Amino acid sequence: MSLRNLLPLLLFTLASPVAAQSSDSALEHARKLLQSTPLIDGHNDLAWEIREAKGAPRDVAAYNIRTRAPKQTDLPRLAEGKVAAQFWSIYIPGEIKDSGYARVQLEQFDIARRMIARYPDRLALALTADDIERNFKQGRIASLLGMEGGHAIENSLGALRAYYELGARYMTLTHNVTLDWADAALDTARHNGLTEFGKEVVREMNRLGMLVDLSHVSPGVMSDALDVTEAPVIFSHSSARALTNHPRNVPDSILARLPKNGGVVMVTFVPAFVSPEAAAWDFENQRQWEQLKVTVSDTAERRKRSEEWKAAHPQPRATLKQVADHIEHVRDVAGVDHVGIGSDFDGIDTVPEGLEDVSKFPQLFAELIRRGWNDADLKKLAGGNLLRALRAAEATSARLRKARQPSTKTIEELDAARPRA
Ligand SMILES: [Zn+2]
Repeated sequence: MSLRNLLPLLLFTLASPVAAQSSDSALEHARKLLQSTPLIDGHNDLAWEIREAKGAPRDVAAYNIRTRAPKQTDLPRLAEGKVAAQFWSIYIPGEIKDSGYARVQLEQFDIARRMIARYPDRLALALTADDIERNFKQGRIASLLGMEGGHAIENSLGALRAYYELGARYMTLTHNVTLDWADAALDTARHNGLTEFGKEVVREMNRLGMLVDLSHVSPGVMSDALDVTEAPVIFSHSSARALTNHPRNVPDSILARLPKNGGVVMVTFVPAFVSPEAAAWDFENQRQWEQLKVTVSDTAERRKRSEEWKAAHPQPRATLKQVADHIEHVRDVAGVDHVGIGSDFDGIDTVPEGLEDVSKFPQLFAELIRRGWNDADLKKLAGGNLLRALRAAEATSARLRKARQPSTKTIEELDAARPRA
């Protein structure tokens, strides 16, 4: 290199601030750390994206993730993001009116499993904590299935068991709609928590070894589930309510109960759960929409007006630093043994600044390194805590399968005496 070429480089190097250099070393450190310990993400909605893909819905071949995919998830970016294990959400809407839930739920199992099978060099179906660790060593992304939510079992413990056999390893007890046996965070509370049948669902999940996922449920359900469960619970994608007062987040009173339970809150990146300003926008947007429903009868016109409102009032951005704040809050209240990561990529249309897609996880770890986190704690956050909780759930299951038979209880039997609101 001639001096003439070297000079601008030299000037650039001299001019670059120390902070930028140390941030690079933090990022390098983060990447190296995630090379040696599995990063487990709690929630990704790619399977629903494939179902809804324009032009070729439900076609896993057409939705190619070998190259850049339309949304936030594909194989090159998962590799850059050092993702070692992914709970692929097999979400189904609670608002389905044209059939029971089983058809859509089975189709989502089918889509997710075909997607995993299509890339055997990069993805492998995982059913246990051992599967996660083995695949991590082999360089493939351990692919677990998580159901969202409990309406899918249609009040049937037999259906719950069949879904376990198909590979489901967690289930959020509700999604956004209150069920016959559990209240949702974003719907009217009808049961003040879990009904007797709801408690039996938790017990049967414990017996099966399916993680009880408390994202999406009301605080009453969180509390009842913690009273009943014999295994650690998880929150696959929720953040801290003390920092952002959104019903989908976890209150401190629940965080404080996690050490005894052994569970994990996998902090999510959903902007409205991460940033109070984005949350306020979310509520206002919802209010506008409810108003339009009353004042504008034409649905196309209503959508157009809503889009106009959004264009005139852009949602405030959440940031990577705010996500780090939520992680630190969960650590401070629940303890470093009870925090993990659950992005919700592909389930969100807006993303925090700095966490735009699945390639950005190392940047989040770099931020925590700059805040003084040590390697042992970072490893717990990345996946160590989830592995511990899953192993404990597996051990509980092994014990309970010896102690009791599959439950044949019905909602009619258990909740009959209870007045239905
Ligand atoms: Zn969700």
